Amino acid sequence: RLILDGVEKSFHGAPVVKDLNLTIEPGEFVALLGPSGCGKSTILRMLAGFESVSEGQIIHGDECLSSMTCHVPTEERNFGMVFQSYALWPHMTVKENVAYPLKVQKTPMAERRKRVKEALEIVQLEEYADRLPAQLSGGQRQRVALARSLVTEPDVVLFDEPLANLDRHLRATMEETFRAFHKRTGATMVYVTHDQSEAMSLADKIAVLKKGQLVQWGTPQELYATPKNTWLANFIGRGS
Ligand code: ATP
Ligand code: MG
Repeated sequence: RLILDGVEKSFHGAPVVKDLNLTIEPGEFVALLGPSGCGKSTILRMLAGFESVSEGQIIHGDECLSSMTCHVPTEERNFGMVFQSYALWPHMTVKENVAYPLKVQKTPMAERRKRVKEALEIVQLEEYADRLPAQLSGGQRQRVALARSLVTEPDVVLFDEPLANLDRHLRATMEETFRAFHKRTGATMVYVTHDQSEAMSLADKIAVLKKGQLVQWGTPQELYATPKNTWLANFIGRGS
């Protein structure tokens, strides 16, 4: 399991994430939901190891990833990551883009081929393996990024608003892809979004944040049935 224990983050003395406590079970699909500026990306960046914690600790299994006294670098965490700007290499084909993390890890060729094939199968892009990113639609590119994030078979995959650049129709299709991806890989997923309907429809559990603070942590049903306060009821669209 992945544990955030009293995690805090400040930039130049200004607190951005305050006393965050979350326990994420293996294989859970967790959404971090909240308005712009509430600290979602900062939390994801601390999980990824791009940012240190100012206070508290992040534990994965029995390993300390981040605290005042420990810091496991990003490349040793084996976390998959998909960010809003998913930056594929323009001169590499789909297949080469997906294989890239394996090349970095020096995975043997035969294993590389097998894993790339599987990853492209999961996102249903087998026929596009030899195309360049410029020859794909936005949604297809996003699926390439997804395939690339899972090709190393990570235990945990981090997503920062992965659907933000896509139109409504594509978002619906991609939500299906995320569900299939989650089912197929069994990976723990931490999914940042400011879109409550996306969080409600995708996640097993949702952490609602406001100004760096956890407002409520529960299943979509719990949030909907018993929102902690009026702000949250309004935010998840229940009104009052
Ligand atoms: P959005 O939905 O707009 O992406 P967010 O919830 O992801 O918002 P963060 O990017 O985590 O929000 O930012 C939270 C706060 O921390 C913001 O007020 C932001 O200005 C501040 N912040 C983030 N990174 C830094 C940094 N490197 N230095 C200083 N302040 C920062
Ligand atoms: Mg953000």
